[in-house]
Amino acid sequence: MSRSKIYVARTVHPSVLARLGAVAETRAWEGPDRCPVEVLEKEIADVDAVLGTYRWTASMMDKAPRLRLIALTSVGFDMADIDAATQRNILVTNTPDVLTETVADLTFALMLAVSRRICEMDRWLRAGQWKDAAVSPMAWDIHHATLGIIGLGRIGSAVARRALAFQMKVLYYDTTRKTNLEKQHGYQYVDRETLLRESDVVTLHVPLSPGTKGMMGTAQLAPMKRTAFLINTSRGPVVDERALISALQEGRIAGAGLDVFEKEPVDLANPLLKMENVVVVPHVGSATEVTRTAMLDLAINNVLAVLQGKPPLTPVNPEVLARWKK
Ligand code: NAD
Repeated sequence: MSRSKIYVARTVHPSVLARLGAVAETRAWEGPDRCPVEVLEKEIADVDAVLGTYRWTASMMDKAPRLRLIALTSVGFDMADIDAATQRNILVTNTPDVLTETVADLTFALMLAVSRRICEMDRWLRAGQWKDAAVSPMAWDIHHATLGIIGLGRIGSAVARRALAFQMKVLYYDTTRKTNLEKQHGYQYVDRETLLRESDVVTLHVPLSPGTKGMMGTAQLAPMKRTAFLINTSRGPVVDERALISALQEGRIAGAGLDVFEKEPVDLANPLLKMENVVVVPHVGSATEVTRTAMLDLAINNVLAVLQGKPPLTPVNPEVLARWKK
């Protein structure tokens, strides 16, 4: 029987190749930048498994007739066409849980940075414009403020736990009500309109799906307080960026903290990058050494399990497994 083949669509440490090489013939992209699509299309032509988060479209999958597994190195799986994978009996795995606390940390960092004007004041200070405390523009408190969480899943809950330590009032809106968390921590479930109207900070933690795409548009930004902030560490297209830009330009909300954008890498001409009251970072929610290592490790373990005939740890479309058994 021929050995299985794996393509790793990102540059990895030789130890990763050694681990995967124990179960399958392994090739990997070795360039400094992302693996170009033309290279990927050729490399996956004869493989059983691919590792890496990429735009896995149906036509890309059709370039890989032997493909059984796409092991993503992210919790979000909007980059992969899951229906197309399922139709082709391709299993998709992701990396939940291991990045939850790290993304929650970044969410809080953005919230504090924008409300306390950290980046703005950092720029002033470096430009020699030290302001006397009495005349410098005032910032906003986060402690005792009301936090509105849209999507109280793994990351949303981790953000809520941090909010309790800041003595914040936590409101949430989710398509599934979390009564246990309400009882345990006092979070209040409200409809989306109430959350938007009453929160001092609105933070988004939903996955990107047809149901959440553009869910923060003009109509949703309108009821927010003029002193409120929007934080987005979920996915860029969850927010209608043009609507957000207008709301910020017209002073209808106080500011935003953004890790994700409609188009990534973000266009340098994007007005959001010119606004003093917007803190931006380049999609680095999970980017700590420990967490990125844990994500890769989980993706590798998914590949090893599947190629050794064992159940994967974190399948996105487990129905494929049942079909494999038939
Ligand atoms: P999760 O599945 O645990 O939580 C998502 C929550 O959103 C669930 O409670 C779900 O019920 C809720 N939800 C789904 N659709 C909704 C809707 N229309 N309205 C309200 N609530 C809705 O996921 P998670 O692990 O917390 O991750 C959330 C998202 O964060 C991921 O899908 C990913 O896109 C994003 N993420 C970003 C980064 C980053 O680097 N910025 C890192 C990790 C995850």
